[in-house]
Amino acid sequence: MTEGADHLAEVSRHIAEAARAAGRDPAEITLVAVSKTHGADRVRELLEAGHRVFGENRVQEAQGKFPELKAAYPDLELHLIGPLQTNKARDAVTLFDVVQSVDRDKLAAALAKEMERLGRRPACYIQVNTGEEPQKAGILPKDLDAFVAACRTQYELPVVGLMCIPPVDEEPALHFALLAKMAARNGLAKLSMGMSADYETAVRLGATHVRVGSALFGARPPLATSSAVHA
Ligand SMILES: *Cc1c(COP(=O)(O)O)cnc(C)c1O
Repeated sequence: MTEGADHLAEVSRHIAEAARAAGRDPAEITLVAVSKTHGADRVRELLEAGHRVFGENRVQEAQGKFPELKAAYPDLELHLIGPLQTNKARDAVTLFDVVQSVDRDKLAAALAKEMERLGRRPACYIQVNTGEEPQKAGILPKDLDAFVAACRTQYELPVVGLMCIPPVDEEPALHFALLAKMAARNGLAKLSMGMSADYETAVRLGATHVRVGSALFGARPPLATSSAVHA
């Protein structure tokens, strides 16, 4: 077994244990392997171990890694989990199967236009800034319901769920519970929440997708973590 496959087995086991402890079926939870800053060879290790769902937070970095891997593994599913600029909407719709960071009208409009043009409809999650942090991407909780409605009726985006990144210095469970409540209120079935440090907590609180990077691939250079927020 490669080191990657080893970590994959361990994280999958932790997810299954957390799910069972919460009375959930482990099959309800998808592990999104966050491969940002790591090379295609590391992604390939997990592909060879049978894993198919990956996350990247920058369009350009993903463009350098994933077209070839997707050609070799047609059932690979790629999620965009980082902030998206409107001028990258076309590239994002071309490459990604899921966009988890829809958070404002201008971006929703740009994505709708590119989906129409390209005839490709990646599933969309709305990112919520549950901690109301000024430096962080995501729509504010108070604006969420109106934005979900606009994404559905005005932009006709395939909205399936919500995503959040809790503040680093706060109890993540409170944010996960809030996100779950907002998703239920809006009739959204998918919840992308939980990272390496807190994915088991997220599973307990209803996550359908956990986004795990360092627990699978090892530590990243410190610079990479700042890209989770808007520059
Ligand atoms: C990097 C990143 C992750 C993974 O973080 P780890 O702590 O390494 O698991 C998850 N979600 C987002 C949005 C990220 O940018």
